[in-house]
Amino acid sequence: MDKEPGSSFPPTASKQGTAQLASCWARIRGRMREEVGEVEYRTWLRQMTLAGVEGDEAIVLLPTRFLRDWVRGHYGDRLKALWQAESPAIRRVDIRVAAGGSAGLTEPSPTHVETGLAEGLTPRPALRPMASAASEKLDRAGDWIAPLEPRFTFDTFVVGKPNEFAHACARRVAEKPNSAGFNPLFLYGGVGLGKTHLMHSIAWALRERENASVAYMSAEKFMYRFIAALRSQSTMEFKESLRSVDVLMIDDLQFLIGKDNTQEEFFHTFNALVDSGKQIVVSSDKSPSDLNGIEDRLRTRLGWGMVADLHATTYELRLSIVEAKAHASGVTVPPRVLELLAHKITSNVRELEGALNRLIAHANLFGRNVTLESVQEVLADMLRAHDKRISIEEIQKKVAEHYNIRLTDMASPRRARAVARPRQVAMYLAKQLTQRSLPEIGRRFGNRDHTTVMHAVSRIAELMAADVAFAEDVALLRKMLET
Ligand code: ADP
Ligand code: MG
Repeated sequence: MDKEPGSSFPPTASKQGTAQLASCWARIRGRMREEVGEVEYRTWLRQMTLAGVEGDEAIVLLPTRFLRDWVRGHYGDRLKALWQAESPAIRRVDIRVAAGGSAGLTEPSPTHVETGLAEGLTPRPALRPMASAASEKLDRAGDWIAPLEPRFTFDTFVVGKPNEFAHACARRVAEKPNSAGFNPLFLYGGVGLGKTHLMHSIAWALRERENASVAYMSAEKFMYRFIAALRSQSTMEFKESLRSVDVLMIDDLQFLIGKDNTQEEFFHTFNALVDSGKQIVVSSDKSPSDLNGIEDRLRTRLGWGMVADLHATTYELRLSIVEAKAHASGVTVPPRVLELLAHKITSNVRELEGALNRLIAHANLFGRNVTLESVQEVLADMLRAHDKRISIEEIQKKVAEHYNIRLTDMASPRRARAVARPRQVAMYLAKQLTQRSLPEIGRRFGNRDHTTVMHAVSRIAELMAADVAFAEDVALLRKMLET
């Protein structure tokens, strides 16, 4: 006999009853998800499974004691209300730890797990303790696992010589975690070179493809959380939650230098995870061997897997990065501006990105195009930091390089247009960018007369006024020299 959901369930042993219960449970989960939002749902509730209904009691399972307590405390009443809305016959919801969940810490398995329901009702196979808790921001628990940055994926990571090895290693770990020789993966390199970006990329890939539980956090958060656990005497939960993830990522490990107790805890967590075949990814601004102030045994273990460094960026990589980012922004940025940025902002990618973002924001705000002039205006402070005195030699060198002529042609008597024009540009720039007098400049260009310099300056100014492309060319040279 068919009954409407909302009255009571047919005996669960029947196929029909199972299906009905399954769809009812799916609705309850769906509603919880809507109510609490995706992040919270994934963090705490995704791993709920229904063991069955016994009399007036629904039995819900979670993989760890920690999760059970949390769900009981925070969502127990709501679960009960939702069950009652589905079926008034349900009066209680019993939230338990599933058999086999987090080794050694589970409660004895409840007998009614063998109701025959599990089959159709628990599509999430192995009990993955804390899978979601580890992978999402734990809002209420103190926000100790950082959320992943949506922008930091492999798609948006620009690969070039300086980072191709680290990138390949990251890809490898994302494709096949815990493969021999890649555990741990230790990424190191200077500030803003993409360590965090790569780590998040791995995490996104693993979460999406394998639904793996990935815990990512900074070493600082790790320490902070560990100390909080010590204080609240909940180190068991702390350990349990960390040791039950599939992948643990600790960013900026150098923070643990000199923090002996936290290092010790990390060392144990590290060993426990590696021993059970879980992947570890660590980043630092130094290589394992340079991490002075980190215990030797930890340093040694960190170096066991794959150590990959991110080198300082090259002009080519910086240019590719700003090109990619400009393209993604949808704002048209002239190539010359991109070249200028890549040329001038060399310290790290974060700063480069910041400069581009400022230009784009400025253009959007004022409804103007990004031009070389706006760069000067918007990034004056950033560029000034790089300002320096410019010599005539430098100007000659840069201009010769730019027009692909020999440096000696700057002082040669040759009058062919191919060398005469660049020479004039160099004179013009020497007048604009240095304090030298016209006769002095003339002397540096093969003992030319000061009237020749004067002529060059006015000729170039004329050409610039008449030819936009030429003007931009000269402006670019000027800006490159002003670095
Ligand atoms: P780190 O963790 O090494 O200090 P991040 O990963 O935070 O550096 O990178 C700083 C910024 O630069 C981020 O916004 C990141 O997206 C960007 N970035 C760094 N390297 C690249 C790259 N190769 N391609 C695209 N963006 C990059
Ligand atoms: Mg970082």
